[in-house]
Amino acid sequence: MRTTAYLSLGSNLGNREANLNHAIEQIEESGSVVARSSWYETEPVETTEEQGWFLNCAVALETEFMAPELLARVLAIEQSMGRKRITAKGPRIIDVDILLFGDAVIDTADLTVPHPGMHTRRFVLAPLAEIAPEIRHPLLNRTVRELVDALPGGQAVRKVKTQDLTTDNTDKH
Ligand code: ADP
Ligand code: MG
Repeated sequence: MRTTAYLSLGSNLGNREANLNHAIEQIEESGSVVARSSWYETEPVETTEEQGWFLNCAVALETEFMAPELLARVLAIEQSMGRKRITAKGPRIIDVDILLFGDAVIDTADLTVPHPGMHTRRFVLAPLAEIAPEIRHPLLNRTVRELVDALPGGQAVRKVKTQDLTTDNTDKH
């Protein structure tokens, strides 16, 4: 069975664009990446730690894997790229989250889908709205476009082009 999953990717350490591209290449090994949003530079939120801005994007992945297998594979990608979990919400080379997995609703110790933070985060919803505005959140019964339109102000997010990016974010955290 083939499922369309939506993933959120973020990086705020090192060459953020190279990190996202590398992760997307690895994600291709779990299926077909059929859509990718623009890059978005986003202000760190839900953190008190001083750290550099993130580069985020969203991708649509058509996959034959079931959700737990897909999670294991994305966590393996994070590990292979040297992600270290030092502090929760701290700076990271790469973060890959499963936002939606078809219209599945999953709540296990290791995996919650839809991702519990997705509907409150502009850094997730803005890229996702670019590639999947009409997809419906299976629990909230609202489209991604409706969710992004309903967000309160704050949480700076700006679409960026490759040529506007500084290569190395390491000294900014
Ligand atoms: P966060 O993304 O919230 O900053 P982490 O990337 O460190 O945190 O993820 C911690 C754990 O979250 C993972 O080990 C994974 O088991 C769990 N998790 C639960 N639901 C999801 C999901 N939908 N996508 C990705 N990880 C998830
Ligand atoms: Mg994560």
